[in-house]
Amino acid sequence: MLNEKIALVTGGGSGIGRATSLKMAGYGAKLVIVDFNEAGGQETVRLIQEQGGEAIFVQADVSKAEDVQRYVQAAVDAFGRIDVFFNNAGIVQKFNRLADIEESEFDRIMSVNVRGVFLGMKYVLKVMEQQGGGSIVNTASTAGVKSEHSASAYSASKHAVVGLTKGAAIEYVKKGIRVNAICPGGVETALTKGVEAAFLSGGYVPEEVGNMRMGRYAQPDELAEVACFLASDRASYMTGSIVVADGGLTL
Ligand code: NAD
Repeated sequence: MLNEKIALVTGGGSGIGRATSLKMAGYGAKLVIVDFNEAGGQETVRLIQEQGGEAIFVQADVSKAEDVQRYVQAAVDAFGRIDVFFNNAGIVQKFNRLADIEESEFDRIMSVNVRGVFLGMKYVLKVMEQQGGGSIVNTASTAGVKSEHSASAYSASKHAVVGLTKGAAIEYVKKGIRVNAICPGGVETALTKGVEAAFLSGGYVPEEVGNMRMGRYAQPDELAEVACFLASDRASYMTGSIVVADGGLTL
Protein backbone atom coordinates (compact mmCIF):
# COMPACT_ATOMS: atom_id res chain seq x y z
CA MET A 1 0.00 0.00 0.00
CA LEU A 2 2.93 2.37 0.70
CA ASN A 3 5.59 0.51 -1.24
CA GLU A 4 8.81 2.53 -1.62
CA LYS A 5 7.13 5.66 -0.21
CA ILE A 6 9.18 7.91 2.05
CA ALA A 7 7.18 8.74 5.16
CA LEU A 8 8.00 11.38 7.76
CA VAL A 9 6.26 10.99 11.14
CA THR A 10 6.34 13.46 14.04
CA GLY A 11 5.66 12.19 17.54
CA GLY A 12 6.84 8.84 16.21
CA GLY A 13 8.39 7.85 19.52
CA SER A 14 5.15 6.85 21.23
CA GLY A 15 1.45 6.05 20.96
CA ILE A 16 -0.35 6.72 17.67
CA GLY A 17 2.86 7.96 16.00
CA ARG A 18 4.79 4.78 16.81
CA ALA A 19 1.91 2.47 15.83
CA THR A 20 1.50 4.33 12.52
CA SER A 21 5.24 4.28 11.81
CA LEU A 22 5.36 0.51 12.35
CA LYS A 23 2.31 -0.03 10.16
CA MET A 24 3.64 2.25 7.39
CA ALA A 25 6.90 0.31 7.43
CA GLY A 26 4.87 -2.91 7.24
CA TYR A 27 3.11 -1.51 4.17
CA GLY A 28 6.50 -0.91 2.51
CA ALA A 29 7.41 2.69 3.40
CA LYS A 30 10.82 3.93 4.53
CA LEU A 31 10.50 6.03 7.66
CA VAL A 32 11.92 9.21 9.16
CA ILE A 33 10.92 9.28 12.81
CA VAL A 34 10.85 12.67 14.54
CA ASP A 35 10.37 13.08 18.27
CA PHE A 36 11.44 15.29 21.15
CA ASN A 37 12.05 12.12 23.15
CA GLU A 38 15.23 10.49 21.85
CA ALA A 39 14.80 7.15 23.66
CA GLY A 40 11.24 6.71 22.35
CA GLY A 41 12.20 7.64 18.79
CA GLN A 42 15.21 5.31 18.75
CA GLU A 43 13.04 2.50 20.10
CA THR A 44 10.58 2.97 17.20
CA VAL A 45 13.50 2.79 14.73
CA ARG A 46 14.69 -0.43 16.42
CA LEU A 47 11.20 -1.96 16.21
CA ILE A 48 10.95 -1.07 12.49
CA GLN A 49 14.38 -2.57 11.80
CA GLU A 50 13.39 -5.67 13.79
CA GLN A 51 10.48 -6.22 11.38
CA GLY A 52 12.84 -5.81 8.39
CA GLY A 53 12.06 -2.17 7.61
CA GLU A 54 14.22 0.92 7.10
CA ALA A 55 14.10 4.00 9.34
CA ILE A 56 16.16 6.87 10.71
CA PHE A 57 15.55 9.05 13.76
CA VAL A 58 15.80 12.84 14.06
CA GLN A 59 15.52 14.42 17.51
CA ALA A 60 13.56 17.69 17.20
CA ASP A 61 11.09 20.00 18.89
CA VAL A 62 8.26 20.50 16.38
CA SER A 63 7.47 23.96 17.77
CA LYS A 64 10.90 25.36 16.78
CA ALA A 65 11.34 26.48 13.16
CA GLU A 66 15.07 25.61 13.06
CA ASP A 67 14.31 22.07 14.30
CA VAL A 68 11.54 21.64 11.72
CA GLN A 69 13.81 22.79 8.89
CA ARG A 70 16.45 20.36 10.19
CA TYR A 71 14.14 17.33 10.24
CA VAL A 72 12.75 18.11 6.77
CA GLN A 73 16.30 18.49 5.40
CA ALA A 74 17.38 15.26 7.13
CA ALA A 75 14.57 13.39 5.36
CA VAL A 76 15.52 14.84 1.97
CA ASP A 77 19.23 14.16 2.56
CA ALA A 78 18.56 10.55 3.56
CA PHE A 79 15.91 9.57 1.00
CA GLY A 80 15.68 12.37 -1.59
CA ARG A 81 11.95 13.07 -1.16
CA ILE A 82 8.97 13.08 1.23
CA ASP A 83 5.88 11.28 -0.10
CA VAL A 84 3.94 11.06 3.15
CA PHE A 85 3.91 13.40 6.14
CA PHE A 86 2.13 12.25 9.31
CA ASN A 87 2.06 15.53 11.26
CA ASN A 88 1.09 14.01 14.56
CA ALA A 89 3.06 15.27 17.57
CA GLY A 90 0.82 16.87 20.17
CA ILE A 91 0.31 17.40 23.87
CA VAL A 92 -2.68 17.69 26.18
CA GLN A 93 -3.36 20.58 28.55
CA LYS A 94 -3.70 20.57 32.33
CA PHE A 95 -7.45 20.15 32.78
CA ASN A 96 -9.04 23.38 33.98
CA ARG A 97 -11.97 25.64 33.29
CA LEU A 98 -11.04 28.48 30.94
CA ALA A 99 -10.54 31.23 33.55
CA ASP A 100 -8.15 28.98 35.47
CA ILE A 101 -5.88 28.20 32.52
CA GLU A 102 -2.49 29.86 33.00
CA GLU A 103 -1.32 32.01 30.07
CA SER A 104 1.89 29.96 29.95
CA GLU A 105 -0.16 26.76 29.66
CA PHE A 106 -2.24 28.23 26.81
CA ASP A 107 0.98 29.24 25.01
CA ARG A 108 2.55 25.79 25.55
CA ILE A 109 -0.45 24.01 24.00
CA MET A 110 -0.66 26.40 21.03
CA SER A 111 3.06 26.24 20.46
CA VAL A 112 3.19 22.44 20.04
CA ASN A 113 -0.28 21.62 18.68
CA VAL A 114 -0.77 24.59 16.33
CA ARG A 115 2.63 26.13 15.62
CA GLY A 116 4.18 22.66 15.36
CA VAL A 117 1.59 21.47 12.84
CA PHE A 118 1.81 24.75 10.91
CA LEU A 119 5.62 24.70 10.71
CA GLY A 120 5.69 21.05 9.67
CA MET A 121 3.33 21.70 6.77
CA LYS A 122 5.08 24.96 5.86
CA TYR A 123 8.41 23.23 5.20
CA VAL A 124 7.15 19.86 3.95
CA LEU A 125 4.77 21.48 1.42
CA LYS A 126 7.73 23.23 -0.23
CA VAL A 127 9.41 19.85 -0.77
CA MET A 128 6.20 18.18 -1.97
CA GLU A 129 5.43 21.03 -4.36
CA GLN A 130 8.91 20.78 -5.86
CA GLN A 131 8.66 17.02 -6.35
CA GLY A 132 5.12 17.34 -7.76
CA GLY A 133 2.94 15.67 -5.12
CA GLY A 134 2.50 14.08 -1.73
CA SER A 135 0.08 13.25 1.02
CA ILE A 136 -0.22 14.91 4.44
CA VAL A 137 -2.19 13.56 7.39
CA ASN A 138 -2.51 15.85 10.41
CA THR A 139 -3.59 14.54 13.80
CA ALA A 140 -6.47 16.63 15.12
CA SER A 141 -8.93 15.12 17.66
CA THR A 142 -12.63 14.85 18.36
CA ALA A 143 -11.77 17.99 20.36
CA GLY A 144 -11.22 19.57 16.93
CA VAL A 145 -14.86 19.13 15.94
CA LYS A 146 -16.59 19.54 19.32
CA SER A 147 -15.65 21.08 22.65
CA GLU A 148 -14.38 19.11 25.60
CA HIS A 149 -15.06 20.16 29.17
CA SER A 150 -12.01 21.50 31.04
CA ALA A 151 -9.99 21.44 27.83
CA SER A 152 -10.82 24.65 25.96
CA ALA A 153 -7.19 25.41 25.06
CA TYR A 154 -6.66 21.88 23.74
CA SER A 155 -9.99 22.07 21.86
CA ALA A 156 -9.01 25.44 20.37
CA SER A 157 -5.65 24.01 19.27
CA LYS A 158 -7.28 21.01 17.57
CA HIS A 159 -9.93 23.20 15.87
CA ALA A 160 -6.93 25.14 14.51
CA VAL A 161 -5.43 21.90 13.15
CA VAL A 162 -8.73 21.30 11.32
CA GLY A 163 -8.56 24.85 9.90
CA LEU A 164 -4.96 24.46 8.76
CA THR A 165 -5.84 21.11 7.14
CA LYS A 166 -8.72 22.53 5.12
CA GLY A 167 -6.76 25.65 4.16
CA ALA A 168 -3.76 23.69 2.90
CA ALA A 169 -6.05 21.20 1.13
CA ILE A 170 -7.62 24.00 -0.94
CA GLU A 171 -4.33 25.70 -1.72
CA TYR A 172 -2.40 22.59 -2.80
CA VAL A 173 -5.06 20.44 -4.48
CA LYS A 174 -3.85 21.49 -7.94
CA LYS A 175 -0.26 20.64 -6.97
CA GLY A 176 -1.04 16.97 -6.51
CA ILE A 177 -0.87 17.24 -2.73
CA ARG A 178 -3.69 15.85 -0.57
CA VAL A 179 -4.10 17.09 3.02
CA ASN A 180 -6.41 15.30 5.46
CA ALA A 181 -6.82 15.01 9.23
CA ILE A 182 -7.72 12.23 11.62
CA CYS A 183 -9.79 12.87 14.73
CA PRO A 184 -9.22 10.18 17.34
CA GLY A 185 -11.51 10.06 20.37
CA GLY A 186 -9.87 8.23 23.26
CA VAL A 187 -6.81 6.14 22.41
CA GLU A 188 -4.86 4.09 24.93
CA THR A 189 -1.49 5.90 24.93
CA ALA A 190 0.82 7.73 27.36
CA LEU A 191 -1.26 10.85 26.67
CA THR A 192 -4.54 9.33 27.91
CA LYS A 193 -2.85 7.80 30.95
CA GLY A 194 -2.05 11.38 31.97
CA VAL A 195 -5.62 12.43 31.26
CA GLU A 196 -7.02 9.67 33.45
CA ALA A 197 -4.72 10.62 36.29
CA ALA A 198 -5.96 14.22 35.97
CA PHE A 199 -9.59 13.08 36.08
CA LEU A 200 -8.93 11.00 39.16
CA SER A 201 -6.97 13.62 41.08
CA GLY A 202 -9.46 16.35 40.13
CA GLY A 203 -12.43 14.19 41.10
CA TYR A 204 -14.01 15.19 37.78
CA VAL A 205 -15.00 12.84 34.97
CA PRO A 206 -16.11 14.58 31.78
CA GLU A 207 -19.07 13.15 29.89
CA GLU A 208 -16.74 12.01 27.07
CA VAL A 209 -15.54 9.02 29.06
CA GLY A 210 -19.07 7.71 29.51
CA ASN A 211 -19.79 8.38 25.84
CA MET A 212 -17.29 5.94 24.44
CA ARG A 213 -20.02 3.83 22.87
CA MET A 214 -17.72 0.86 22.34
CA GLY A 215 -17.01 0.90 26.05
CA ARG A 216 -13.25 1.03 25.55
CA TYR A 217 -10.40 3.19 24.35
CA ALA A 218 -9.04 2.57 20.85
CA GLN A 219 -5.72 0.81 20.50
CA PRO A 220 -3.13 3.01 18.69
CA ASP A 221 -3.08 0.43 15.89
CA GLU A 222 -6.73 1.16 15.07
CA LEU A 223 -5.89 4.82 14.37
CA ALA A 224 -2.71 3.83 12.54
CA GLU A 225 -4.79 1.92 9.98
CA VAL A 226 -6.87 5.05 9.24
CA ALA A 227 -3.76 7.22 8.94
CA CYS A 228 -2.11 4.71 6.56
CA PHE A 229 -5.20 4.62 4.33
CA LEU A 230 -5.39 8.44 4.10
CA ALA A 231 -1.64 8.63 3.46
CA SER A 232 -1.83 6.10 0.64
CA ASP A 233 -2.95 6.43 -2.98
CA ARG A 234 -6.01 4.37 -2.06
CA ALA A 235 -7.46 7.62 -0.67
CA SER A 236 -6.83 9.34 -4.03
CA TYR A 237 -10.13 11.26 -4.05
CA MET A 238 -9.86 12.49 -0.46
CA THR A 239 -8.53 15.90 0.45
CA GLY A 240 -9.58 18.31 3.20
CA SER A 241 -11.41 15.41 4.88
CA ILE A 242 -11.65 15.49 8.65
CA VAL A 243 -11.92 11.80 9.45
CA VAL A 244 -13.40 10.99 12.84
CA ALA A 245 -12.40 7.58 14.23
CA ASP A 246 -13.75 7.64 17.76
CA GLY A 247 -15.77 4.49 18.48
CA GLY A 248 -18.96 6.54 18.37
CA LEU A 249 -17.85 9.18 20.91
CA THR A 250 -19.24 12.12 18.94
CA LEU A 251 -22.55 10.48 18.01
P1 NAD B 1 1.84 10.18 23.10
O1 NAD B 1 2.14 11.07 24.25
O2 NAD B 1 1.83 8.71 23.30
O3 NAD B 1 2.80 10.51 21.86
C1 NAD B 1 3.08 11.83 21.48
C2 NAD B 1 4.54 11.93 21.07
O4 NAD B 1 4.79 13.28 20.63
C3 NAD B 1 5.53 11.63 22.20
O5 NAD B 1 6.49 10.69 21.78
C4 NAD B 1 6.16 12.99 22.49
O6 NAD B 1 7.51 12.91 22.92
C5 NAD B 1 6.03 13.68 21.14
N1 NAD B 1 6.08 15.14 21.28
C6 NAD B 1 5.36 15.91 22.14
N2 NAD B 1 5.71 17.19 22.01
C7 NAD B 1 6.66 17.24 21.06
C8 NAD B 1 7.44 18.29 20.49
N3 NAD B 1 7.30 19.56 20.88
N4 NAD B 1 8.33 17.98 19.51
C9 NAD B 1 8.49 16.68 19.12
N5 NAD B 1 7.80 15.65 19.62
C10 NAD B 1 6.92 15.93 20.59
O7 NAD B 1 0.41 10.68 22.59
P2 NAD B 1 -0.61 10.12 21.49
O8 NAD B 1 -1.85 9.80 22.22
O9 NAD B 1 0.02 9.12 20.61
O10 NAD B 1 -0.89 11.47 20.70
C11 NAD B 1 -0.54 11.68 19.35
C12 NAD B 1 -1.46 12.72 18.78
O11 NAD B 1 -2.82 12.24 18.85
C13 NAD B 1 -1.47 14.07 19.50
O12 NAD B 1 -1.53 15.12 18.54
C14 NAD B 1 -2.74 14.04 20.32
O13 NAD B 1 -3.23 15.32 20.60
C15 NAD B 1 -3.65 13.26 19.40
N6 NAD B 1 -4.80 12.65 20.03
C16 NAD B 1 -4.64 11.67 20.96
C17 NAD B 1 -5.79 11.11 21.55
C18 NAD B 1 -5.69 10.04 22.58
O14 NAD B 1 -6.72 9.68 23.17
N7 NAD B 1 -4.52 9.48 22.87
C19 NAD B 1 -7.06 11.56 21.18
C20 NAD B 1 -7.18 12.55 20.22
C21 NAD B 1 -6.04 13.08 19.64
